[in-house]
Amino acid sequence: MQYKTIEDLGNLNGKVVMLRADLNVPMDENFKVTNTARIDRTVPTIKELMSKGAKVVVISHFGRPEGKGDMKNSLSHIVKDLEKSLGHKVVFVDDCIGEKVAAAIKAMSNDEVLLLENLRFYNEEKKGDEAFAKELTAPVDAYVSDAFSTAHRAHASMVAAVKTKPAAFGRLMEEEVNALSKGLNDPQRPLMAIVGGSKVSTKLDLLNNLVKKVDKLVISGGMAHTFMKANGIDTVNEANSLVQMDMIDTAKEIMATAKANNCDIILPEDVVVSKEFKAGAEHKTVDLSNIPAEGWSLLDVGEKTIKAINAKMDECKTLVWNGPLGVFELKPFDTATNAVAQHAAERTQAGKLMTVAGGGDTVSALSNAGVENKFTYISTAGGAFLEWMEGKELPGVAVLKK
Ligand code: AMP
Repeated sequence: MQYKTIEDLGNLNGKVVMLRADLNVPMDENFKVTNTARIDRTVPTIKELMSKGAKVVVISHFGRPEGKGDMKNSLSHIVKDLEKSLGHKVVFVDDCIGEKVAAAIKAMSNDEVLLLENLRFYNEEKKGDEAFAKELTAPVDAYVSDAFSTAHRAHASMVAAVKTKPAAFGRLMEEEVNALSKGLNDPQRPLMAIVGGSKVSTKLDLLNNLVKKVDKLVISGGMAHTFMKANGIDTVNEANSLVQMDMIDTAKEIMATAKANNCDIILPEDVVVSKEFKAGAEHKTVDLSNIPAEGWSLLDVGEKTIKAINAKMDECKTLVWNGPLGVFELKPFDTATNAVAQHAAERTQAGKLMTVAGGGDTVSALSNAGVENKFTYISTAGGAFLEWMEGKELPGVAVLKK
């Protein structure tokens, strides 16, 4: 691996290791954690460090605090869930720098983990402040960076802190970077990307990068409407779809770049139109030549499109996916997303396709399709996954290059 991993830290017995995790979990108004996935996926790294004899000090950001003491965004709320997932006592310290932290580290026993207060209680964290980073790591011997989902931000704990001590990727970061590299940087070809979601404007960099890298690019969801309009389908308009009129020329340029790079763009061949934007609304599937200009909205792609996508997928060895193919939150407009996701899952399980997915709504769309455990890899990251797909170097990853 071209990045530093825990092996590069040498003997950790008796050492104090600071672990930058992403414990920014969803929480309800009673401070109850509603999804522990981020905690659970950090735990293997903590356990491994403990098994190597290290004393582990966990740090993370949480929410968008308005300054120190904003209790709503205190990491103290997650102590119980972390203890449960870890199976060890977790001692919470209500600060992340200073004497209190140093004293707590000194008092640590081998069988407990320290969790420090929200890094973002200090504005210096977001500013990437070096002095803050130094203070943060002053009481520890080594630093492990495991928060892939924050790796696109050059915050103090993601970059500056890493440079202050012997440092390495945690196992989650390592797993994410390996999976994403196999998906886009060094994939087995042919390589297909599926990009769905709402608007072209939010995924321009992504599309521009993908047309140069992938062999087949499926464009679906709301963003496909702008491409359909650019291809002369006049009945697609702002009243019945998410078409972005100011993006028509951009869509044409993306299609021209794709052609120049031998990238096959797969657009909808038929669409599901609905009388209303709600679950169970009256709907029908129409060919591109029969899209009603009024009274119906384009909410999903149809059976012909599903077949075309799946057939092209059968020619591919790798699939990278971001964004739903339709309005998957409303049944039955999750039909195409589910059908294509299930096909990808079957091919993955049969060992014929490597599948990597991530970014925002994609994870919920894929769990809605019942395939969340059937893809090769589903990333925990949102923004970082998208920036990786955009071909950008993530500062929190780059800083740990060997
Ligand atoms: P994004 O955050 O850009 O990945 O977009 C995800 C959102 O796109 C989801 O909430 C979907 O409901 C929405 N979406 C997908 N297809 C369509 C469509 N045909 N019309 C409107 N919204 C859509």
